Amino acid sequence: MHILLLGAGGREHALAWKLAQSSHCTRLFIAPGNAGTSGCGVNVPLNPLDFEALKKFCTGEAIEMVVVGPEEPLVRGIVDFFANDPALKSIAVIGPSASGARLEGSKAFSKKFMVRHGIPTAAYREFSLDGIAEGVTYLQQHSMPVVLKADGLAAGKGVIICQSPIEAVAEFELMLQGNKFGEAGNKVVVEEFLTGIELSVFVLTDGKHFLILPEAKDYKRVGEGDTGPNTGGMGAVSPVPFATPDFMQKITDRIIIPTVKGLAEENIDYKGFIFVGVIKVGDDPYVIEYNCRMGDPETEVVLPRLKNDLVELLLAVRDQALDKQQVVADDRIACTVMAVSGGYPGAYEKGLPITGLDQPPARSGSIVFHAGTRTEGDAVVTNGGRVLCVTSFAETVYEAVDDSREVLEKIYYDGIYYRRDIGYEFL
Ligand code: AMP
Repeated sequence: MHILLLGAGGREHALAWKLAQSSHCTRLFIAPGNAGTSGCGVNVPLNPLDFEALKKFCTGEAIEMVVVGPEEPLVRGIVDFFANDPALKSIAVIGPSASGARLEGSKAFSKKFMVRHGIPTAAYREFSLDGIAEGVTYLQQHSMPVVLKADGLAAGKGVIICQSPIEAVAEFELMLQGNKFGEAGNKVVVEEFLTGIELSVFVLTDGKHFLILPEAKDYKRVGEGDTGPNTGGMGAVSPVPFATPDFMQKITDRIIIPTVKGLAEENIDYKGFIFVGVIKVGDDPYVIEYNCRMGDPETEVVLPRLKNDLVELLLAVRDQALDKQQVVADDRIACTVMAVSGGYPGAYEKGLPITGLDQPPARSGSIVFHAGTRTEGDAVVTNGGRVLCVTSFAETVYEAVDDSREVLEKIYYDGIYYRRDIGYEFL
C-alpha cells in the first residue's frame, strides 16, 4: 500500500524507518521529511497543515494510509477533513479527530475529561480573563511550587512551574492579560505541583481496544544532571526500570482503560496514538498530560524496540481489530542521545554542514535518526535545534549510551552538543 507520513523531525524519521520495513508498504512518502527520511521513502515538499494540497497529493498517488507525526494537523482537524470528503474518506488517517486531539490541544478539556472519568491527576482550577481577580487570590493562597499551564498548544513552552506567589501572579497575568502565549493562554490551568519521577506511556487505540507500546523516559533539560533550560528532549531510554509489571498494571487499570472507555462513551472518534505523561507519586501513577501523537525523542527508542510490523498494527487500528494483535518488544535496552545545535534551546545557526554520517555502525548496530537536517546538493546540513539522535541497544543503559556516544564522536558540525549522561539514574 502507498503510505503518506506527515512531519519532519526525529520522530518522523523513526516512523519512516519502521513503516518502510513493513511488507505492506510498497511506497512511502514523507511530507516534508528531512535528510534522513529520504533514505526511507520519497520526501515531498508539502505543508502538513495544507489539507487541500494533501488531498491533491493523496488522490494523485493513490495513498491508502496517512500517518500523522505531529499534533498540529490533528488539532486542526485533518482526520475530520479526510473523513468528511467523499474522495478521501476511504483513506485511513492514523490519529484522533479534532475532538479527540483536544486531549492535547486543550489542557482545560483534558483536565475535565480526567475528572469526568475518575483518572488520577493533580488538583486544579481553570481561569480565564474574566476570572483574573479570583485567580490572583487563589494563587496567593496556593501552596508552592504551583504549576501554570496555558490551555492551548504553545510549542511545548506553555507550562511554568512557579516557586513563589509573586512569580505565580506575574506569570498568570502575563498569560491572561499580556498575551504571553497568544490565544493558547486565553485560559490558564492552575495545578498542584506533584513530586515524583516521570514516565512516558504510549497507547495505540482503535477506539474500542488498545495496545500498550514499550514505555520510555525522556530527558528534557539541556544540561547534564538535568540542569539548565527545558528542550524538546535530549535523549530517551526504554524500558524504564521503575515501570514494573505492578506499576504498569496500575497505569492500565486507573488511566488507560478509563481513558479509552471515556473517549468511546463520549463518542469521540479516536484511532491513533495516545501519549500519556505519567508521574509516579509514592507508588501511584498520576497523569501530567496527554498528547495525541507519539513523543519525540521517545519514538526513537520505542519503535526500534517494537518487533511488530507497524503497518499491520495500523491496519488493525483502521479495522478496529487491535484485540487480535499483540505487542512484541525487544528485551534489550534502547537509548537515544540527541545532538543539538550550539546555543539551543536559545538562538542557534542553521545550514551548518554535517560530516561523519556515513561511518560504519557501532558494534550493536546503532541507528542515526535525523531530526533537524536537510540536504543541500550532496551535503547534509543542520536545519533545527535538535539535529539528529543516535539510538543504540545493549544489555545495560551504560553500554547503550556508550555506543551512541561512540557514533556521535565521529559526527561533526560546528557547535555540536549532546548530553553524555542519558539514563544516568539507571546506571
Ligand atoms: P506538560 O507540557 O503538561 O507535559 O508539562 C511539562 C512538564 O512540566 C512536565 O513534563 C513536568 O515535568 C512538568 N509538570 C507539569 N505539570 C506538573 C505538575 N502538576 N507537577 C509537577 N510537574 C509538572
